Amino acid sequence: MKALDVTTPYQITDYNELSPLQQKLVDEAKDATFRAYAPYSKFKVGAAIALDNGEIIVGSNQENAAYPSGTCAERSACYYAHARYPEAKFTAIAVAARGTDDRWLTVPASPCGACRQALVEYETLAGHNVEVLLVGEKDIYIIPSVRALLPFAFTEF
Ligand SMILES: [Zn+2]
Repeated sequence: MKALDVTTPYQITDYNELSPLQQKLVDEAKDATFRAYAPYSKFKVGAAIALDNGEIIVGSNQENAAYPSGTCAERSACYYAHARYPEAKFTAIAVAARGTDDRWLTVPASPCGACRQALVEYETLAGHNVEVLLVGEKDIYIIPSVRALLPFAFTEF
């Protein structure tokens, strides 16, 4: 038997240390939280995806009285991004969230398993890492790829 470990590399930084594009993504993700439709959870999430054609696509969580019918910010953004620009490759995604008290989270929220699965597919299509920025009140976590958040991902590729 051979014992192995899987690790997730990430950096913790703050807004002022980000590149202009990273700052723009963070701004857009935070702004998108104000367009969340979250009457049930009151947990407002925004996502912003940078594409290699220069576009930034945003999404927010969209809930529904029939709970499973709603979707997360990350998936609303990535599905729209690919529907709008099917030839464009994702380069980065930022995710921001405000809690039930409307405040930014101290520890950034991380994509749920379903969103990781959706995003890893677009990372695979891109053929390169898609950087993930998780936005907290002060700290911003930078993960170098979606796959780093989803080891042993299921993929047909
Ligand atoms: Zn999700």
